[in-house]
Amino acid sequence: MLARWWRGLRARREDEALARRAIPDDLWKRTLVRYPFLRRHDAAAEAELRRLSSLFLDRKEFAAAGGLRLTDAIVVAIAAQAVLPVLRLGLARYDGFVGIVVHPDAVNARRSVADDDGVVHEYDEALAGEAVDGGPVMLSWRDVYSAGREGAYNVVIHEFAHVLDYAGLIPEQGLAVLDDEYERFCARVDGGEVNEEDTLLDPYGAVAPQEFFAVASEAFFVLPRELQAAHPALYALLATCYRQDPATEMPPPRRRD
Ligand SMILES: [Zn+2]
Repeated sequence: MLARWWRGLRARREDEALARRAIPDDLWKRTLVRYPFLRRHDAAAEAELRRLSSLFLDRKEFAAAGGLRLTDAIVVAIAAQAVLPVLRLGLARYDGFVGIVVHPDAVNARRSVADDDGVVHEYDEALAGEAVDGGPVMLSWRDVYSAGREGAYNVVIHEFAHVLDYAGLIPEQGLAVLDDEYERFCARVDGGEVNEEDTLLDPYGAVAPQEFFAVASEAFFVLPRELQAAHPALYALLATCYRQDPATEMPPPRRRD
């Protein structure tokens, strides 16, 4: 009885949030045109993506920095890409944070590292995005906007792949597959086989296994057919983790003649 009451209350709250944060048809259509990898053959899957986007907008707090003015187009573009990885995992995966800070462009962060002799080196790093544990997710709008134009580069999927606890997402036997793929990728980056011109898997993925997971997730969602052809085991692993098969579920890209 209590469970039924609770479910009823939750459904009502969700309906209220969906009404409050309804995404207008024309804005949703424009978002799908701008980011075609969001499209699905299955109308129900696309509707679920739109529903989760509204709930995401309701639960998260967007803030602008650096003089940027937040528009509906900006927050919907971020929400729709952010919920794509959790389409079948559920929005509760993102319960660990609330804030999203959007900057107009990449942000210079002062970094310091100590070398083996204990000497501290300071340098600037241009960040297109950052996800810190429990803290706000930072995104550069310029980078969000340019996603999907060339190659698999996608800062939103990258940062939200970090938000998802990748170790908790990958089944035990899958960790060995990821390690193996990571080691081979590092060897190819070291050997110069993968470089900055490679637009499927960013060589930045060689920095650490969690970066490799984030970079592979970008390719999985943005260029799934290419990833499946080039790295079938990695694709299969991510399909299990995310419970999606975008290579099949996504309509083929429209030809631009
Ligand atoms: Zn990263």
